[in-house]
Amino acid sequence: MRNMTDMDFSRTPFIVIWEVTQSCDLACLHCRANARTCRDHFELTTRQGYDLMDDIASFGSPLLVLTGGDPLKREDLYDLITYSVAKGLRTSVSPSVTPLLTNESIRKLGEAGISRIAVSLDGSTAGIHDSFRGVRGSYARTLEVLSECGKEGIPIQVNTTVTRYNIRDFENIANLIAGFGPVLWSVFFLVPTGRGKVEDTISPEEYESVFEKMYELSKVMPYDIKSTEAPHYRRYAAQARAREKRSGICPLEAAAGTLRDTIGRAPRGINDGKGFVFISHRGEVYPSGFLPLSGGNVKNESIVSIYRTSPLFTRIRDYDMLKGKCCVCEFRNICGGSRARAYAVTGDYMESEPYCVYMPVKYIPAESNEEKTRSLGI
Ligand code: SF4
Repeated sequence: MRNMTDMDFSRTPFIVIWEVTQSCDLACLHCRANARTCRDHFELTTRQGYDLMDDIASFGSPLLVLTGGDPLKREDLYDLITYSVAKGLRTSVSPSVTPLLTNESIRKLGEAGISRIAVSLDGSTAGIHDSFRGVRGSYARTLEVLSECGKEGIPIQVNTTVTRYNIRDFENIANLIAGFGPVLWSVFFLVPTGRGKVEDTISPEEYESVFEKMYELSKVMPYDIKSTEAPHYRRYAAQARAREKRSGICPLEAAAGTLRDTIGRAPRGINDGKGFVFISHRGEVYPSGFLPLSGGNVKNESIVSIYRTSPLFTRIRDYDMLKGKCCVCEFRNICGGSRARAYAVTGDYMESEPYCVYMPVKYIPAESNEEKTRSLGI
């Protein structure tokens, strides 16, 4: 695997997500995809999927995530995985917990060679989780699935979407999943798109309190923790590390563990369209699944050229073109704000991240030196 810190995100994504279908038997409250039970006739075919994976492999070796909807709604899923693995792509799958995800299908996913399985858990109790997922019994089965994946030796990623419904349950979820030995907890911050609503999001101040919990949990939990659609967690962590160093405490960077599978840790600076690319079930290429603007379609053009040269992707990576405080922020190269949330909330994907409390030094009056030092966290 190449050294991740050397990756040039203008040429190569670290992670490619392919939504193999939008079909799913769940009806989750916050579903980005607005998923429905039947499949779309315009989905990429198996042959088109193979061509796509040939192109993805020519990037080098990005991580490929097969997501949905529910990938298990495609009967060719195991063929797609086998092909991807044979191309040398580290392949991860995010199935929905429905009756399709049997112990037998978990075993087959492992045999097909997946590097990781991602399973969603949005509450530490049946009451919280099942009301998110819209299906009674989903919580109990999710715990069984996590256990079964562990027995099959498949590295586990747990995905949790933070909303106002589960923010007070955050540490309980962290403690619960520790018992299943995941390699990674991916904490999603709701983007109000698809079925996700603005009124379900947490406030910018609550983001900071969740960041603090993530940072502290990172020191003690036996798994890695990352944010999804909240790159400003990296700003929070950089400030916290700087404060700890100043007080003589061993900073988190030195204490953090290494992921125990072949996928590795996402490099700093990854963001929507910058090290990250999403292909819709119809082949449209988006900077993120939460940012449904297309740079082109893989049915007509290679994903490589769309990612490297389309006006959408080149613009979204140009942080000199950012608007508002994100443009002048000292942390923009490790953060840049969620472009998807900027688009969902303001209609402009280059606008400032609307859910970040940080005030860049340039936004603070020249005479307020004390405030500037506090702002940087140094
Ligand atoms: S102001 Fe923008 S770039 Fe700076 S930390 Fe906040 S979201 Fe990130």
